[in-house]
Amino acid sequence: MKVCKFGGSSVASSEQILKVLEIVRSDPARRVVVVSAPGKRAKGDTKVTDLLIAAAEDALAGRDHSENAARVVARYSAMRDELGLGADLVEAASAELERRLAAPKDHPGAFVDAVKAFGEEFSARFCAAAFTARGLRSAYVDPKDAGMLLSEEYGSARLLPESYANIKAALGPMPDVVVFPGFYGYTAGGRIATFSRGGSDITGAIIAAALGAEVYENFTDVDAVYPVDPRLCPEAAGGEGIREMTFAEMRELSYAGFAVFHDEAVMPAIRAKIPINIRNTNNPDEPGTMVLPRRKSVPGRVNGIAACPGFGALYVEKWMMNREIGFVAKLLSILASENVSIECMPAGVDSVTVVFKDEMFPDDVRSRVFAKIEKDLAPDHVSYRRGIAFLVAVGEGMRTTVGTCLHVVTALSKAGINLQMINQGSSELSIMFGIRETDLQPAVQALYREFFVS
Ligand code: ASP
Repeated sequence: MKVCKFGGSSVASSEQILKVLEIVRSDPARRVVVVSAPGKRAKGDTKVTDLLIAAAEDALAGRDHSENAARVVARYSAMRDELGLGADLVEAASAELERRLAAPKDHPGAFVDAVKAFGEEFSARFCAAAFTARGLRSAYVDPKDAGMLLSEEYGSARLLPESYANIKAALGPMPDVVVFPGFYGYTAGGRIATFSRGGSDITGAIIAAALGAEVYENFTDVDAVYPVDPRLCPEAAGGEGIREMTFAEMRELSYAGFAVFHDEAVMPAIRAKIPINIRNTNNPDEPGTMVLPRRKSVPGRVNGIAACPGFGALYVEKWMMNREIGFVAKLLSILASENVSIECMPAGVDSVTVVFKDEMFPDDVRSRVFAKIEKDLAPDHVSYRRGIAFLVAVGEGMRTTVGTCLHVVTALSKAGINLQMINQGSSELSIMFGIRETDLQPAVQALYREFFVS
């Protein structure tokens, strides 16, 4: 059996939902359909999840939320008309949204998550009704009834491990096609909690793993995963997509900014060894990109290049640092005490740089960290630089190919780009280059030409 997940653009309108129906109908192995909330119908449109977040924030702040709530209901109402479904579904949706927005606000995180989850819940209810009305018997299943239990980390919840057995027991025997809302589950206390943004990918991967699916099909709006983000390098959109990649390559690329697949969704698939197939709802005949435990052949040295802005570097210098046992451990524990999660740590003999997301280092955190460093480590120099971007060249082939770094460095130097940092992990699967954010686009273009244009 196959589990398929359809992203926001695939369920953005009735026209898209009918494409989803045809895709599901065309293969009887497609037994579970996971859906996102309706996304953008065209450029400039707003995703339902964004409208819901705006409405929830209005309600929390005591402002009028009715305009955003009405825009959400209008999205479903338009679909109802075009899909010819009963009026009661829209009435139920509108009443439920009002109920959630009027709920107690003593726990803001839980309040916002319950409103956010509305988008996926009613997307799934509408799809199930539309499929059944067109002769494909399907059933909406709520994450609560499937035992999808999440931690109480509202807005970035994690799955509780017992959920796998619960989901298998609940969905395994279902005779109809299951339509399941992505993005959320329930805490042990019965409250709705959501994964981080884009988290319907995670729901799909969890269900595929729980049911031991032969493949997890992730339908989006591109024919394949491109080796670089076409928004940064438009010529890549006209080039070849990646046909095959390994789980490890996918994890590296999606972590470092590949927008096609949520990085946390790779893990459940890896553990259960379920291949992921990224495909296009608007072009379902394309085979898409296969993500597998192992590639049969590992041609070329680089399979993809991810680019990610928004980093900062904390630089600490102290003469004879290497003689002070525990210096780096103390530095890291200062950062941990301020909840700063680090990305990498290039070090010299008497200096160390710690790199993390700049958003984790607002001014108040920075002054506390600086004060603690001065007090506990007595450094010769401390500074912080923002505006750093990372370029990550990823490819299993690097382990067996000599000179990948040379190619990257040569291409970047020809483009006049200064390298601020280089970090190659021991897995030899990726090399990370720190550059100025303003150099990101020319750098990606230079590397695309170096590695993917013959
Ligand atoms: N609707 C949610 C979001 O926009 C989750 C998802 O689409 O995967 O983030």
